[in-house]
Parts: sequence; structure tokens; C-alpha cells
Amino acid sequence: MKIGFIGLGAMGRPMSKNLLKAGHEVHVYDIVPAAVEELVNAGAIAECCNKAVAAATDVVITMLPNSPHVKTAVLGENGVLAGKHEGTILLEMSSIAPLATKEIGKACEAAGVPMLEAPVSGGVGGAAEGKLSIMCGGKQELFDQLKPILSVLGTSLVLCGDLGAGNTTKLVNQHIIAVEIAAVAEAFAMGKMAGVEPEVVYNAIHNGYAGSKVLDGKLTAAMDREFKAGFRLDLHIKDMANAVETGYAVGAPMPLGSLVLDMMKYLSANGLGSEDNATLMKYYERMCNFEFHRQ
Ligand code: NAD
Repeated sequence: MKIGFIGLGAMGRPMSKNLLKAGHEVHVYDIVPAAVEELVNAGAIAECCNKAVAAATDVVITMLPNSPHVKTAVLGENGVLAGKHEGTILLEMSSIAPLATKEIGKACEAAGVPMLEAPVSGGVGGAAEGKLSIMCGGKQELFDQLKPILSVLGTSLVLCGDLGAGNTTKLVNQHIIAVEIAAVAEAFAMGKMAGVEPEVVYNAIHNGYAGSKVLDGKLTAAMDREFKAGFRLDLHIKDMANAVETGYAVGAPMPLGSLVLDMMKYLSANGLGSEDNATLMKYYERMCNFEFHRQ
């Protein structure tokens, strides 16, 4: 199948490479030429803009940072809808605000372009291994039709409801991860200041009820001083802002989310926005004037 891939960042590059490996003809575009070049070297066909990607392919995948980027890439002058043809389908895989998903979905419907939202979880590692968890929103028939493509990218495919339900599910996921990193940082800082080294506490508890992927991934990253993204703090701030905004819009209380969002914003304002979200551990390091290390 001819697949278009727009947004060749940390996630888009390995995802589009997996589609190439699965035998698809992949047409790509990114505003960063070096990212396009990497994919062309892997066998993809470069296009000059998002409109040209749509004109050349059947299914267009977007994997962009946030709602405004997706609106530009899909609805803009040189966007996907400007290049649509009979049979064009939009598979929107970015993590964006559910309200924006619905808005883009309406514009696609008016243009006769079926759209499925499919944000993912599993990080750069999951993208490279084709083991993402994919949270979809849209029509059942379209979900079924796109399953062969989604199965190349991920191993857990769930249709959560209509358009907007996929990104709402993704916000639940992102809220849990952010609050959990903060909880791990706070608890381990308390343990260290009370005289028990983080690695000792980790060894003692990670197989019990407090064990988690966040504990394994983010505490160990902090102990190893490994903060290269991964998943940039600034992208997680975008998700938490969308989560808190969605909570306010529907009347859901978000005291933890709001607090952790402010902690993340403080770190970003202090120059750490491009680091992995594990950098949230540094909020407590700065308050306590120590660094997490192995023993
Ligand atoms: P990224 O910033 O690394 O990549 C985004 C790419 O989009 C960049 O290469 C950028 O140049 C390109 N871009 C921006 N505007 C464009 C436009 N108008 N047209 C074409 N290209 C454009 O981000 P990422 O880490 O790949 O994440 C992409 C999405 O997936 C985000 O919504 C993110 O929240 C989500 N996500 C990321 C991770 C992760 O671990 N990085 C995990 C799960 C979900």
C-alpha cells in the first residue's frame, strides 16, 4: 500500500522505517530536511510538502508534536486536505487535545476524508520494535480497515470510542506517568534524606506493589544521570496542559495534575525542556540539594 508519513521526529522515524520493512511504499515529509534524508536513505520517497504526500498516497499518517502542528499539516494551505483524492484516509497518530481531534475530524468529514485518531504509548523503544500501544478513536469499519497498518506499528490496538476518545485515553496515560514520576522522586528523596540510598530502596521494593515501568525506567535513569530524550519534558508538559484543560472543561478535579504541571514548567523554564521527562526527578534534587546516584 502507498502510505504517507508526515512528522519524522523521535517517533516518526522508527515508525516509518517499520512500514518500509513491512513492504509498504512510504512517501515522507518533515519540515527538517535531515529527517527526510534519513528516511530516503532507508528507502522512502521524499515529497516537497504535506499536500504532495496526500496526493501520492492512500493513507496519510501524521506524527506531529501538538494540535497546532496537526492543524497546519492537515488543514493548512499546503496540507493533507489540499492534496486529497478519492480514497484518501487520514491516520492521525500524534498526541493532541481531544477537542482539536474532533475539530480536525469535522473538517476531514466535510472534505470526504475518513479519519482515525491513533495516539500511541511505548516510547522510542516501542516505536523501534513495533510494539506500541495504540489508542484509537473513530469508526469501527475504519479501525478494522487500518488494522494491517496499525499492527506493523504496535501490538496493543484498542478502539476507545468516537473521535476524541483515543486522545482522551492518551491523556489518562500521560497524567498517570507524570504524577508517578513525581511520586517516585518525592518518596526516594525522603528515603535518601532519612539515610537509605535510592539503589537499596529500589532493590528492596521494585518487585513489590510499588514496582512499575516508571520506577524501573525513570529512577534508574536519574541514578545513571541519563537524561537524553526519549520523551522530551516539553512534550509531556503539552500533554499535562491538555489533560488539566480537559479536566477543567468536563468538571473533573485535577489537583495532582495541576501541581505536577507547574513542577514541570519550572524545570522547563530553567532550561531542561529538551531532556527526557525523567528530568522531573531533578525538581526534588534541587529542593533537597542532592543528586540521585547509584551507591
Ligand atoms: P518530535 O518533536 O521528535 O517530532 C515531531 C516532528 O514533526 C519533527 O521532526 C518536526 O520537524 C515535524 N513537524 C512539525 N511540524 C510539521 C509540519 N507542519 N509538517 C511536517 N513536519 C512537521 O516528536 P516525537 O517525540 O516524535 O512525538 C510525536 C508525537 O508523538 C507527539 O505528539 C508526542 O507527544 C507523541 N509521543 C511521543 C513519544 C516519545 O517517546 N517521544 C511517545 C509517545 C507519543
